[in-house]
Amino acid sequence: MPDLDYETNKTDSGYNTYQHGCRFCSDNTLVIDYKNPQLLRHFITERGKIVSHRNTRTCVKHQRAIATAIKRARTLALMPFTAIGK
Ligand SMILES: [Zn+2]
Repeated sequence: MPDLDYETNKTDSGYNTYQHGCRFCSDNTLVIDYKNPQLLRHFITERGKIVSHRNTRTCVKHQRAIATAIKRARTLALMPFTAIGK
């Protein structure tokens, strides 16, 4: 599987590859962990909201795990509750 840019869903070569299904189901090496904010960062908006599974194409099972992990990371101050106001 080629390296996907999480934000644009484009490969290194620039082609837009629509990703079918949940990336956690297709990639067993990806582990949802509240101690890994670099991964969870892709599932929140700029303002800190959790992105819907419809937009990230994550399955229900893994979306729940992500939401729990993000909430845990927030209480440990690893992730923001909200963006700093401008
Ligand atoms: Zn899944």
